[in-house]
Amino acid sequence: MSAESHSSVVPWPIAPRPYEEAFGGWLGRVAARYQLSVAMLWEMSASEPLPALGTAGWILFPPISQSASRRFATLARLDDDRLKHIQTPSAWLIDRRCMPYCFRCLVLNDADISAPRWRREWLEPTVEFCSVHHTLLETVPASVFRLSGHFAGALHAISRYREARKFKDYRRLR
Ligand SMILES: [Zn+2]
Repeated sequence: MSAESHSSVVPWPIAPRPYEEAFGGWLGRVAARYQLSVAMLWEMSASEPLPALGTAGWILFPPISQSASRRFATLARLDDDRLKHIQTPSAWLIDRRCMPYCFRCLVLNDADISAPRWRREWLEPTVEFCSVHHTLLETVPASVFRLSGHFAGALHAISRYREARKFKDYRRLR
C-alpha cells in the first residue's frame, strides 16, 4: 500500500482487541460495535472486494491480502502482526454444515468477560475437544454465520438454537 493511501485511513473511534480468536469473529465483533453487517464494514474499510465466503459465512474468513491486513490494522490501531496472526489458514477453508465450539469458552473470555469471542482453533477442520475444558465441542449450523450480519447477531442465533435443542431434548425425555 502506498504511503498516501495509508495516511488517508482514519482509525475507528473504538475497536475491540483481537484475543485468541478467528479473524472473521473479530471482524464480526467490530461490525456489531458499529451496527453494520460484516459485508458493509468490509466495503467501507477495505479497498478491495469482499472475498467469496463459504457455507460458514464470515466466521471462516479466507486469509486477507497484506494491504487489507495493513489497512484494518491502521483502522483498529493495532500492530500489523496482530491481524496476520489470526488469519484462517487456507487449508481450513472447507465448506461445513456445522461449526464446533465450546459454549463456556465462547461466553467466558478470560481477558474480557463482556466480550464473547470465537476461538480460532475451533475453525480447524478436525477439532473435536475443547483445549481448555477437555470436553467434546458442541456444534451450531454453519448457516448461523451466513445468515447473521455480525457477531452479536450470530450469538443471538446460537443461544436461540441452544434453547430449541434443550426443549427438544426435554420433550424426548418425557
Ligand atoms: Zn472450553
